[in-house]
Amino acid sequence: MEKGILLSFSFAFGLCIGSFLNAVIYRLPRKISLSKSRSHCPGCDKLIYWYENVPVLSYIILRGKCSECSFKIPIQYPLVELTVGVFALFITPKNISSISLWSYFFYISVFSCFLSILLIDLRHKLIPNGINIYLASVFFCSVVLSQSPYYWGLGAAIGVLFPLGVTYGFYLLKGQVGLGGGDIKLFGALGLYLGPIGISHNIFLSCFVGALVGASLILLKIVDRKTPIPFGPFIIFVASAQIFIPDHFNRLMNLIIGAH
Ligand SMILES: [Zn+2]
Repeated sequence: MEKGILLSFSFAFGLCIGSFLNAVIYRLPRKISLSKSRSHCPGCDKLIYWYENVPVLSYIILRGKCSECSFKIPIQYPLVELTVGVFALFITPKNISSISLWSYFFYISVFSCFLSILLIDLRHKLIPNGINIYLASVFFCSVVLSQSPYYWGLGAAIGVLFPLGVTYGFYLLKGQVGLGGGDIKLFGALGLYLGPIGISHNIFLSCFVGALVGASLILLKIVDRKTPIPFGPFIIFVASAQIFIPDHFNRLMNLIIGAH
């Protein structure tokens, strides 16, 4: 197939996935089922027709407002659609084979989960189980044949048990819950794919970056000591480097640890 056609198709597909993610990001933390058929305007409850729901285009045509009550549609909607669309361009396979299609599906799935977790955790301070389960399934499928059970089993075990132990210790010491259950499940899912060493790097680095950012926010008086800071974004930040640009990440780790 011609390269241009493949890229346009991939971009359009990414936009549609982004549109679906908007529903995921809005509905999952509010416990609204994804299978509940149609979307309604949060302002006036008007049913949103399919032609008002075309990724990016509808936002431009409606000039960012509901056609009925002029409720302002958040700019996040077209931005999420465009972000996935552009990401899809980067991972578009050069030729179509079962391997290249699997890798396309893998990367767009992981990216979509990461983007949803980031936006949901920042606003609602939670990570829906459904996203962690989907992520764990995709990771499991990608390693179950190529890696030994020690790799993914130990990776997942470290991902769950180590943060759980630290959180429990923290709870015993200070009577506060450190990491949420969603963070620990996310570590577990990532452990499947990253293995024992990769997940250890993630736990160490995300805690380090999280502590650094948290301390800066407190010092700059943007938040106070008691405000819980969502931890998911830090896990996602490190995991994105590990999964999407592994060569750069490994070079950085070699610099830090001093290995060759
Ligand atoms: Zn409306």
